Amino acid sequence: MDLESLYQDIILDHYKHPRGKGLLDRPMGSAFHVNPTCGDEITVQVNQDPQGGLIIGYDGQGCSISQASASVLVELIHGETIEKSEEIRKAFLEMMHAQGAGDPNEDILGDAIAFAGVAKFPARVKCALLSWMALQDAEIQAGLLTTGEGA
Ligand code: ZN
Repeated sequence: MDLESLYQDIILDHYKHPRGKGLLDRPMGSAFHVNPTCGDEITVQVNQDPQGGLIIGYDGQGCSISQASASVLVELIHGETIEKSEEIRKAFLEMMHAQGAGDPNEDILGDAIAFAGVAKFPARVKCALLSWMALQDAEIQAGLLTTGEGA
């Protein structure tokens, strides 16, 4: 199996079996983002446990890339600190803006590495980034991030 079809399998698996999908009861921060060119919709919500671990909830509908990306986001960010969350989010943004070049760090990105192939298709990059933009807004709203930081 070549790398490209392995990546497609990972994305399809997250699309068919979304991890941690569902909204939180009383989120500290919540952001709803729309990708009008594709019709994708994502809500990402954030809470923080007393130890500083992030609790992520989400809901949405749209194409396989947007929904799989949200599922991967939850898998990677849930339980992490805000600092680690930022490290992962920035690594993902960097990979998606590298147009298939660059050298994404699989240790940090986990299953998100599967979206490296999507980065070659500018029209789909917005789909992949939608939930990550919503995450940033939810974290700002929750008071966990300062506005303008790393945007
Ligand atoms: Zn889409």
